[in-house]
Amino acid sequence: MTTVFDAGIIGGGLGGLTLAIQLAKKGHKVILFEKEKYPFHKVCGEYVSMESRNFLMRCGLKLDEMNLPVINRLNITAPNGNSISHNLTQGGFGISRYTLDALLVEQAITHGVIIKELCKVSEVIYTINDFIIHTSAGVFTSKFAFGSYGKRSNLDVKLKRKFILKKQKGAQNYIGVKYHIKTDHDANLIALHNFKNGYCGISKIEEGKYCLCYLTTEQNLKESGNDIKKMEQNILYKNPHLRKIFEEATFLYEVPLVISQINFEPKTQIENHIIMLGDAAGLITPLCGNGMSMAMRAADMLATLMPENNNEENMNMFESAYQLAWKNEFALRLKAGRIIQNMFGAELPTNVFISVLKPFPLFVQLLVQLTHGKPF
Ligand SMILES: Cc1cc2nc3c(=O)[nH]c(=O)nc-3n(C[C@H](O)[C@H](O)[C@H](O)COP(=O)(O)OP(=O)(O)OC[C@H]3O[C@@H](n4cnc5c(N)ncnc54)[C@H](O)[C@@H]3O)c2cc1C
Repeated sequence: MTTVFDAGIIGGGLGGLTLAIQLAKKGHKVILFEKEKYPFHKVCGEYVSMESRNFLMRCGLKLDEMNLPVINRLNITAPNGNSISHNLTQGGFGISRYTLDALLVEQAITHGVIIKELCKVSEVIYTINDFIIHTSAGVFTSKFAFGSYGKRSNLDVKLKRKFILKKQKGAQNYIGVKYHIKTDHDANLIALHNFKNGYCGISKIEEGKYCLCYLTTEQNLKESGNDIKKMEQNILYKNPHLRKIFEEATFLYEVPLVISQINFEPKTQIENHIIMLGDAAGLITPLCGNGMSMAMRAADMLATLMPENNNEENMNMFESAYQLAWKNEFALRLKAGRIIQNMFGAELPTNVFISVLKPFPLFVQLLVQLTHGKPF
């Protein structure tokens, strides 16, 4: 007889893994599909806002014993080098996705989650009661299906999601680039260095390493002949702080990790009864340093809301309750994130904006607060 899982989770990043752990701890039968093999690197700034620290510890991570850097100062620089600094009331800590996701997988396995690695989901079909999940490792059945497969995936195309069908211009599509480096930089500081049509974050992670990660438009790359190094020299180096880092740091990868086709169009939280969370439900601009905590908070909400049984009435109630909770928690943050992202756009307005912000530290604090939630 085929096993019917209570939850089929598609994508094993932070949203998917923490949802799997929470559901398994409640006694549910959970299967999670991840197309890559753990541990693996991901394009991410690796600054985790403090709001999800307790939650990660409830998921079984012994963060207290890991001696991770605590980050409580923010420095923002303009393309012309002008800068503002600010103390972060809540702050965050640094840990690589390589380590964090792998630790969560260990916890998931300990709690009985079936992890299918190197297993790509190609289609999810809803049939009156159950979900039929087609994967590269066979077909599986679950009572509920969760889409935690990140910013953009083959499933978005299959589901014909609106944001994927919309034609985007090069300037609305972004690329993300990440390095791990060794450099001379304060351990408790996250710096956000702006440049023409982009920004680059740098903050400390484990083992004395730093994560250097930037977001910019595909247009910027195109203008440098699709050559990352050339683009860095032509555009990023114009910010003197970035030039110094790039010229003096030791880079720990031969080549950077790069992702493309990132866009910040609004998304729906439910598609054909598949419940979306994390970036698959809505992507906050990385500038806010909060996407990971949002993915985990959605997982926490879902673990509380998921009913025992998937009859039609329960499904409807579950979907409505989640959509409402999601909007209450995240709609304003996403909107604020989009507005802030637009402020840090073209070179000249960013220079002006940073000099205008300089005498108003309370305004900077307000912007940070608008995109963050309380600890959960
Ligand atoms: C440049 C950049 C910098 C960022 N910096 C920060 C930061 O400093 N702090 C912060 O909090 N957030 C940051 N973010 C955002 C953060 O990375 C995301 O919000 C977070 O990773 C979302 O988690 P998730 O679980 O939704 O998706 P992910 O962590 O992306 O996980 C999705 C998983 O699904 C898998 N998958 C996809 N399709 C399939 C399929 N068909 N079958 C099986 N598996 C599949 C993928 O391999 C992946 O492992 C940044 C984002 C970018 C782009």
